Amino acid sequence: MTDISQFQPTLMWKHFADISKIPHCSKQEERIREHIRAFAMDRNLVWKEDDTGNIVIYKPGTPGFEDAPSLALQGHMDMVCEKNNDTVHDFEKDPITFRIDGEWLYANGTTLGADDGIGVASCMAILDDDSLVHGPLECLFTVDEETGLTGAFGLARDLLTAKNLINLDSEDLGVFSIGCAGGGDSHVRIPLGYETLPAGWNVHTVKIEGLRGGHSGVQIHENRKNAIKFLTRILFQVGKSTDYRLAMMDGGDKHNAIPREALAYIAVPPGTDLGVIITPVREAILEEITSPEPGVQITIMPIHVTKPDAPVLDKASTTKLIDVLLALPDGVAVMSHDVDDFVETSNNLATIKITEGEATMLLSCRSSIMGAIRSLQDRILAVTSLAGGEVKEGNGYPGWKPNPKSALVELCRATYVDLFGKEPKVEAIHAGLECGLIGEKYPGMDMVSIGPDIQNPHSPEERVRVESVKLYWDHLVEVIARLAKGQ
Ligand SMILES: [Zn+2]
Repeated sequence: MTDISQFQPTLMWKHFADISKIPHCSKQEERIREHIRAFAMDRNLVWKEDDTGNIVIYKPGTPGFEDAPSLALQGHMDMVCEKNNDTVHDFEKDPITFRIDGEWLYANGTTLGADDGIGVASCMAILDDDSLVHGPLECLFTVDEETGLTGAFGLARDLLTAKNLINLDSEDLGVFSIGCAGGGDSHVRIPLGYETLPAGWNVHTVKIEGLRGGHSGVQIHENRKNAIKFLTRILFQVGKSTDYRLAMMDGGDKHNAIPREALAYIAVPPGTDLGVIITPVREAILEEITSPEPGVQITIMPIHVTKPDAPVLDKASTTKLIDVLLALPDGVAVMSHDVDDFVETSNNLATIKITEGEATMLLSCRSSIMGAIRSLQDRILAVTSLAGGEVKEGNGYPGWKPNPKSALVELCRATYVDLFGKEPKVEAIHAGLECGLIGEKYPGMDMVSIGPDIQNPHSPEERVRVESVKLYWDHLVEVIARLAKGQ
């Protein structure tokens, strides 16, 4: 078993080791909350908690810096609990144990919890270390980041007075996050009419598979193709050449995944050569996508119909559904003007299913600008309404619009350059972070997100580069000191 007590900075690693002994999977934070409350009480620090379970610990500025600007530091208490199949580990009671491989610290067959145990331990070590220079500190520990940003969603509006916040949940030393996307889901329902399969008609499967898929926030700009959209394009072309009926359609899986596969059953009149109709469309699509999608396969196969009177969508419903799918937005909508290579607004047509009497579709919009999400969701409403359908919108969450003029980001940047002699990367991500929700609760909060090198989070391969933690720490405490001194 690896002893981490000699790692630098020792106080932070001591707190990390303590946290690792306490089970703290998402939605099971009671014991770590108790640990954090006891930590505050043992040191006579004022603390508060809100109804959601988030805790803030306050510490006055060091002598001479009592009136310096307040600073909030933030990490999330929960960790993703995953283990290898052959690992015996009870996340409800067993401590996380460690192993070292080269420069990296791992757990033994489980997630390590460096995401975000390093952030939480950093806050505790800073509160615990009387040798540091700092202004008044407000250390915010949120619950349940990993399964839906629950803590940040429910964060009370009266816990923080600081106007600056450093989120300690990033995973690349020297890469500062300064913005993220908000999101909103639209659940679309289109009513369908049916008829029996016309006599003598033949049914075929049309299937798209082998696309790369990926995360609809992080990978939407890579031109990864949406299987539902491509299947729709094929069926739209079929409809221009022949009468046909849709019998079944199914594609996609999760709201945040780009669909990799989609499948339809279509019925065509006797004598129709579907190959002649589809081959040029198929070739045109393959020409367009085999370079970004080398694994793509489009197959068309006749299927033997066992029930000759099976129901199929009537002609009007077939046309209506394919028109809707073709018109719904998908992919990158707008790139940012303020931040290079940053997707500002996008949509993922995530799933389609045909069930009894209706088609249901799930679309996931993202943007760092709330108005842009509204505008995209309105477009979905309009298309759906033209087809006589309905939309139910899920819980939206706000984005964090990058502020290129942020004084806090500039302070972090300049400090990084002074300490390490090189420029950090400053970037925004097209996925959700707690800062989006915190910024909504505390308007005008100047925010940045930093962290050490953490790889493969949320899997038993999660690892943190030990040396990067020391560098991240040196940078963090220097930023805190300079902010207090007004440098
Ligand atoms: Zn995290």
